Amino acid sequence: MYDPLELGRQTARIVCRGTARKYYRFRPARFYGGIATADCLGCNLRCAFCWAWEQLHQVQKLGQFYEAKEVAERLAAIARKKGFSQVRLSGNEPTLGMTHLIEVLRHLPQELAFILETNGIILGAEAQWAKELAVFPQVFARVSLKGCTPEEFSHLTGAVPEGFALQLKALEHLLAAGIDCHAAVMVSFSPAESRERLRHRLASIHPALGDFEQEELILYPAVAARLTKRGLSCFSGYLPGSLP
Ligand code: SF4
Repeated sequence: MYDPLELGRQTARIVCRGTARKYYRFRPARFYGGIATADCLGCNLRCAFCWAWEQLHQVQKLGQFYEAKEVAERLAAIARKKGFSQVRLSGNEPTLGMTHLIEVLRHLPQELAFILETNGIILGAEAQWAKELAVFPQVFARVSLKGCTPEEFSHLTGAVPEGFALQLKALEHLLAAGIDCHAAVMVSFSPAESRERLRHRLASIHPALGDFEQEELILYPAVAARLTKRGLSCFSGYLPGSLP
């Protein structure tokens, strides 16, 4: 097992350089009804179901460094060309380089909504980051929880179970700072009882959080092989060809 905060620090030394960060792709994406997307490199977790596994493990080799201003300009240009009103950083974990992320927000046109997709580990460890993000009213955070309990979190990510509490703490910090947010939960490995327990736990942070987004596994062949190797079996999920 690993400490996700330590793994994050080690990875940040490779993918972050001052206000620059490594990216491997800029693209328009169909999610959220259309969103300009910059795919960054580097994460502090190792989820067995990760669709960006290759990128996760090749942070030295892949991608190139981009200054925050250039990332913001590229996102704005994609949004303008496609008529999107939203942008995001995706791929791996955007909060690994908080200085870079804040600078991207500083350079983005204010009329573009920014969806922060995060696993919440770093935002949960330090309340200060949520306060810094709160300066930008266009930020909406989607915190992606890995399972419904500390034990499920640990099985799915290979990290110490304490990381799950950081994910929940992130939601507390974001709400306390006045940032709109919701939880998305990978539920495919969770029995009904632990989904229900999480619902109560989230509702105790804020009533609206109890109504969380349920993320389902997509069983790409490489993901299925990884799950078998780790001895993980799921309760639900989709085959790639049967997505709704
Ligand atoms: S947090 Fe996201 S990017 Fe990081 S390993 Fe998990 S699924 Fe992959």
